Amino acid sequence: MTSMKTSIPVSESVSSVDMEIGSSWTDSNTSISSTNSYEAMVKVIQTKPRFHSIKDAIHNKILNLRAEGRVDERSFYICDIGEIRRQLNLWKSELPFIKPYYAVKCNPNEEFIKNMISIEPEMGFDCASLAEIETILRINGFINRDNLIYANPIKPISQLRYANNNDVNLTTIDSIEEVEKIANFTDGKMKVLIRIQTDDSSATCPLSVKFGANLQYSEKIVEKCIQLGVQIRGVAFHVGSGFKDSNTLVKAVDDSYKLIEIIEKNQGNKCDIIDVGGGFSKESFKESAKILRQEMEFKFGKSISNGEIKVISELGRFLSASCFTLVSNVIGTREEIGGGKTRVYLNDGLYGNLNCILYDHQEVEPIVITSNGEYVYQESKSNDKKLYSIWGPTCDGLDCISKRVELNYDIKCGDFIGFENCGAYTNAAATKFNGFTNEFDYEFIES
Ligand SMILES: *Cc1c(COP(=O)(O)O)cnc(C)c1O
Repeated sequence: MTSMKTSIPVSESVSSVDMEIGSSWTDSNTSISSTNSYEAMVKVIQTKPRFHSIKDAIHNKILNLRAEGRVDERSFYICDIGEIRRQLNLWKSELPFIKPYYAVKCNPNEEFIKNMISIEPEMGFDCASLAEIETILRINGFINRDNLIYANPIKPISQLRYANNNDVNLTTIDSIEEVEKIANFTDGKMKVLIRIQTDDSSATCPLSVKFGANLQYSEKIVEKCIQLGVQIRGVAFHVGSGFKDSNTLVKAVDDSYKLIEIIEKNQGNKCDIIDVGGGFSKESFKESAKILRQEMEFKFGKSISNGEIKVISELGRFLSASCFTLVSNVIGTREEIGGGKTRVYLNDGLYGNLNCILYDHQEVEPIVITSNGEYVYQESKSNDKKLYSIWGPTCDGLDCISKRVELNYDIKCGDFIGFENCGAYTNAAATKFNGFTNEFDYEFIES
């Protein structure tokens, strides 16, 4: 059987970066054990007819929804596969020695994940629960288990067993208690990365308030692992989702180095994995990648280039945010008495896809897709400015998407409003509160 690698061209050339660590995770000659059904899945994905522009795809979808008389039923997403490709290429060009593991929690849409695998057959996945592991195994039950990490420092025993029974045998820990759990409830194959604490005060979503061990406590975890025979394969950190201060990365790499020294001295055998976590965003990526690359070269350059240490990263928003455009429908409007503003109510809001406003502290920018029924997306047909407030469909006053926004167009019931860069922490946490749906339509295009 030919390996997936040779049967699937991986995309355009990637600009190379002048750096000392030449080894690239894509050079590895391990191949996914594939089945006919897995190959069939990839083939179906790759031969699906697609639009090549988001604009055409949205227009077509709206025409279809109108024809079917279900414009206001649920909002829909356009997912651009080309953007997955571009983000993966950007990653490879800046950090070729770090293998990406997609953090499933960020956007667990299966079709999206399948497309990711069809672009990058050796893609790794960070799963933090039984259901997330199940999702990946459902997509490809024969996935090389080295491509999976169960990256949740606190695991329910039942879920830990499930992972162990399914040969997902790499996990993160940050407590002595978790070492005991692993020793007691797994068969000895479960290996660990110690998750260290980082200074993530600059992040939009700090994680160290909940996870991570400091160096002193990490030493105790090491002791416990040795005492109970749990093998430590290395260190993991996460500098916080949407971090802004790249120096946090430098400190985390340095702390990883210190801890690895301690582990190797005590455990006797070598560490072979460093997990640099996630938190990267498209906007600040080049700058943070440069800082991370320099520090990794400085501290681990030799071990990386001679293959002793494999570096992995758990990418969430970096891979998914810019791939999705959300489009929702205007289900009602109301002039505000004396306020000069028009209230616009959508079929989606803070309890739906736009929960990202609340949980992920995202600022979303409404974009007019149709005005009085006419398709105006990416056209500059109007210069009138009107003031709006934008609301979700539930009966909660908290369900406000934007208190005040100036838009160029007239908006009526039945029109559509869009939100770009909506692929991270949106659909993943949508609820059915008040009887509204948390199922959405997805159209896949490739630009
Ligand atoms: C959420 C999470 C990620 C992904 O974070 P992003 O900021 O979306 O890149 C990676 N690893 C762990 C452990 C996480 O909790």
